[in-house]
Amino acid sequence: MLSEAKHLGPHRKRGLALGRPSNGIGNGEIGNVTDMRIDIHSHILPRHFWDAVNDDTDWFGATLDVENGKRFINTRDRKAGPVETNWEISMEQRLALMDSIGVDMQVLSMPPYFFNYHLPVEQSLGASKELNDEIADAIRAYPGRFSGLATVPLQDVPTAIAELERTMANGLKGAELCTHVNGANYDDPKFLPFFEAAHDLGAFIFFHPHAPTAIERTRSYYLANTIGNPLESAITVASLIFGGVLDRVPDLKLCFAHGGGYACYGIGRMDRGFQVRDEAKINDLKQAPSDYLQQLYFDCLTHSHSALDYLLETVSADNVLLGSDFPFDMGFDSPVEWVQSAPNVSTEDQEKILGGNAARLLGLDVD
Ligand SMILES: [Zn+2]
Repeated sequence: MLSEAKHLGPHRKRGLALGRPSNGIGNGEIGNVTDMRIDIHSHILPRHFWDAVNDDTDWFGATLDVENGKRFINTRDRKAGPVETNWEISMEQRLALMDSIGVDMQVLSMPPYFFNYHLPVEQSLGASKELNDEIADAIRAYPGRFSGLATVPLQDVPTAIAELERTMANGLKGAELCTHVNGANYDDPKFLPFFEAAHDLGAFIFFHPHAPTAIERTRSYYLANTIGNPLESAITVASLIFGGVLDRVPDLKLCFAHGGGYACYGIGRMDRGFQVRDEAKINDLKQAPSDYLQQLYFDCLTHSHSALDYLLETVSADNVLLGSDFPFDMGFDSPVEWVQSAPNVSTEDQEKILGGNAARLLGLDVD
């Protein structure tokens, strides 16, 4: 595999074995530290979509719409854009960009408007298979440079489990899920079999906000993203904790985009509610909400070094991973540099964030 060393990034030339199924939790791998820079929050626009655009047709209903000279991706679930140059780059251009910002590996996932939970399940599954195979192709084509997370049709749990199994056998490491499924929270018992399957597979699950709540009051000023998205993540963290999911399925590898949104900042109030309100105790939690938070993982995409400090104080440096939101404008332009310039984060903790934690959780073998 490593004979194709020309694809290895600028900061590492060490041995790396990919594809070994591994649940990093409890198997002695905890504590591994690598100097690889692994970006676990990086998106790829599906080639199948651009091919459909070039053929002047739609891709599972998604079209490229032009408004006032600007182009937008319209999946019928959301209109995203305007499309920027980086959304259409080739894999070689992507690798060159990664090299220029010191990122050795991107863990690829689709932009959230391709979750396709709004489609009939057969269509959604067909789209997921094309998306997931495209990421698997990238992993195989550029050894050591890419890993990946699947899109699964979670509006139908058994179908989602089957696709997660298929795609992890094909080299992906887990799945990217929306923070809700057509408005349903993850404390709904219908999702429990999915989490049980994710546990058994050792899947890394990355929650990404999309179609946020409170949309009626956040239509202006891009607030649906800047406030709606972090609110979404906080609701998802809270519903998993208060819903007892983390008691029923311990040792899950659940990671949340954008530093978990407002979850960590609000955990003290959730603890207070748990202490004084019966409504918060209906699932007989074994510990306080802030204790469950220690079982979760978060990317570092807070856009504030002070917020990163607070995240690291609230959980630990073992819980935080490099995430850039590449190639979108709300992400980091230079994520490695941003972490390395955090004034209050030790070099040891920076190394965990930049790659050590991701290597452990994704089950990457590092010499
Ligand atoms: Zn993102």
